[in-house]
Amino acid sequence: MELHAVDSLDAALDVLATRGERCQVLAGGTDVMVQLARGEITPAALLHVERIEALRGIEVDGPITLGALVTHRELAKGVLGDGFRSVAESAATVGGRQTQVVGTIGGNVCNASPAADTVPALLVHDATVTLRSSAGSRTVPLSAFLVGRRATTRAPDELLTAIGMPATGEGSGDVYLKVGRRSAMEVAIVGLAMRLRFDEAGTVTEARVALASVGPRPQRATGAEAALVGGPLEPDRVDAAASAVLDGVEPVDDLRATAAYRRRVVPGLLRRAAGICAQRAGR
Ligand SMILES: Cc1cc2nc3c(=O)[nH]c(=O)nc-3n(C[C@H](O)[C@H](O)[C@H](O)COP(=O)(O)OP(=O)(O)OC[C@H]3O[C@@H](n4cnc5c(N)ncnc54)[C@H](O)[C@@H]3O)c2cc1C
Repeated sequence: MELHAVDSLDAALDVLATRGERCQVLAGGTDVMVQLARGEITPAALLHVERIEALRGIEVDGPITLGALVTHRELAKGVLGDGFRSVAESAATVGGRQTQVVGTIGGNVCNASPAADTVPALLVHDATVTLRSSAGSRTVPLSAFLVGRRATTRAPDELLTAIGMPATGEGSGDVYLKVGRRSAMEVAIVGLAMRLRFDEAGTVTEARVALASVGPRPQRATGAEAALVGGPLEPDRVDAAASAVLDGVEPVDDLRATAAYRRRVVPGLLRRAAGICAQRAGR
């Protein structure tokens, strides 16, 4: 197997332009090395991008920009501020400390696992992903980038370079809640992120809810979002959202839990999340 260890973006894009189809990008390697060892992937070449400084930055003035190589440990420290607590909370649940120190946000997104913890938090913040190739660059909503279990719209010659999120406004609160069999080092049985925005009268003006480890890919729960918007966060409104949270989502049976268990847990998580968001928004 060829190993290309590069330290510039141009060099990485050159390798992808020539080797794209059979070349596996290697960032922190916490997914790739496991998949190689299990024989789940058999690339002809590895492109090690971890030394590319241009992929490391975090910009927090106004809209957020995260370089693809930002690690879970960096995010778990809360560098994005109070408006992005769901992102910090989700990063803090990715495996143990060793995994968080090397595992990257770009790797979590591109691996496209149904259980990717940071993805619901990014979805509730309307994240976009920027992909570069030697032919140019494109920025697309994360929700459109993820198309199925371990499937994205990334072309073989593209590298994910950055993730963007708009600034959150006044009166917003967000949270990420994860259910696993243990409180650490556990892949999610269910993950739920929520972001609510309230006006001064206490009306919910914006709602985002996203789930991981329920269907074949992390996805927004648009039925719940619609039920939450348009009035104060009273019990009836939360009940309606809890009833609608699985609309358009088909829970799966897998090694970690049954679909029936997931159906039972998700509405309860939504109720808890709504209370936390309201409290964090100061409503
Ligand atoms: C012990 C252990 C526990 C874990 N626990 C969790 C958990 O609780 N929750 C969770 O969500 N994940 C978990 N993971 C999975 C993993 O740590 C994360 O998905 C991590 O974010 C992957 O990042 P990485 O940099 O290591 O990616 P890599 O392994 O280097 O790459 C992952 C995938 O993304 C692609 N890729 C990486 N960077 C780019 C890029 N810039 N452009 C294009 N493609 C790219 C790679 O080709 C590969 O397909 C765990 C892993 C281990 C080993």
